[in-house]
Amino acid sequence: MSKTKDRNSMNRRAFLKFGVIGVAAAAGLSGLSRITEAASSASKTGTTPVYRTLGRTGLKVTVVSFGAMLTPDYEPMEAAFDLGVNYVDTARRYMNGRNEEIVGKALKGRRDKVYVATKTPPTSQSKKDIFNDVETSLSKLKINYIDVLQLHNLTSGDRAFIPETREALLELRKQGKVRFFGVTTHTNQADVLKAITDDTGKFFDVALVSYNFKSEPSVKDAIARAAKAGIGIVAMKTQAGGYKTDALGPISPHQAALKWVLQDTNVACAIPGMKDMSMLHEATAVMGMKLTRRDGQILERYAEAISPYYCHLCAQCEPTCPQNVAISIINRSIMYAEGYGNYELARSTYDELQQNESAFVCSNCTECVARCANGLNIANKMQKARMLFA
Ligand code: SF4
Ligand code: SF4
Repeated sequence: MSKTKDRNSMNRRAFLKFGVIGVAAAAGLSGLSRITEAASSASKTGTTPVYRTLGRTGLKVTVVSFGAMLTPDYEPMEAAFDLGVNYVDTARRYMNGRNEEIVGKALKGRRDKVYVATKTPPTSQSKKDIFNDVETSLSKLKINYIDVLQLHNLTSGDRAFIPETREALLELRKQGKVRFFGVTTHTNQADVLKAITDDTGKFFDVALVSYNFKSEPSVKDAIARAAKAGIGIVAMKTQAGGYKTDALGPISPHQAALKWVLQDTNVACAIPGMKDMSMLHEATAVMGMKLTRRDGQILERYAEAISPYYCHLCAQCEPTCPQNVAISIINRSIMYAEGYGNYELARSTYDELQQNESAFVCSNCTECVARCANGLNIANKMQKARMLFA
């Protein structure tokens, strides 16, 4: 047996060691058939899917679900679905539209086992645009309905209240093409969460938020309040950028970071990005594990290692820039390039900015007066962005 093959089979053995205790009990009655299938699949493999309820949608989702954004082909997704992972998150614009096609291939023959979440781009606000997006998503995913349709990347609560956008979503629900509505946010997250939590019409059922061990307490509090109000919280960016760091030696902080997020029971599920089988194994093995003191130590060391460049995406610096540069979005683009190693995603995120809010503006500034609440050197970051995205 080759070394690679041997390692794969070891991974598989390690991955398959979990039992199937209490799956149906954890599942409750709603969605039971979907969960029974997952449990049956799990009994064949020995994995234990662990479920939580996605807020008022009532969907029982695996706590480790599938973030498809970075997955270049469908095999890891197929394997995840066959092992019981039952929620997948994609978006209209990931990989310039190709990501939904990849998810669609993995869903073939498995649609009844998996809840599908996708997103309409930030520029889509009119009925016509949203209808077009949904039709395109359905055709790329090769499915008849979307479980959770999210408004992509809200930077304030305003977009959640655009009447035409809401009318479009309601009409799509009436047509049976969308079941639940959600929002996603990386910037001003506490404000966005507050807006949809305080919405007396309870229009949005799901919020996909950036949440990890480096998150501000205000985000944790907003998540708790939203979850209490019945909003299903899905966590992304759980790895705080996924940076590789020599400071940790051979130790990976990824499982510890995921456990940190899942110990917060206000989170229904996390959607770590999984590019291959090894990432799938590493992430799904966390289901049912507890955060340990050792994990805390690993995360402390990781936090220290990334502190010179990790941006919390909190946007607190933006009012201090006289030119209104979108510093947090620029920093997120840099993170996609440097942490995730995904230049295509970095470029497409950066390209969504208008020129007058991009790092281009900084070339006319003799001195950067913008100040980071967490001590980052913003001038250096903007210079890096100009080099990366010139
Ligand atoms: S250099 Fe700093 S202050 Fe000047 S535009 Fe850029 S971010 Fe704003
Ligand atoms: S640069 Fe600093 S203040 Fe600005 S978004 Fe990042 S962490 Fe927040």
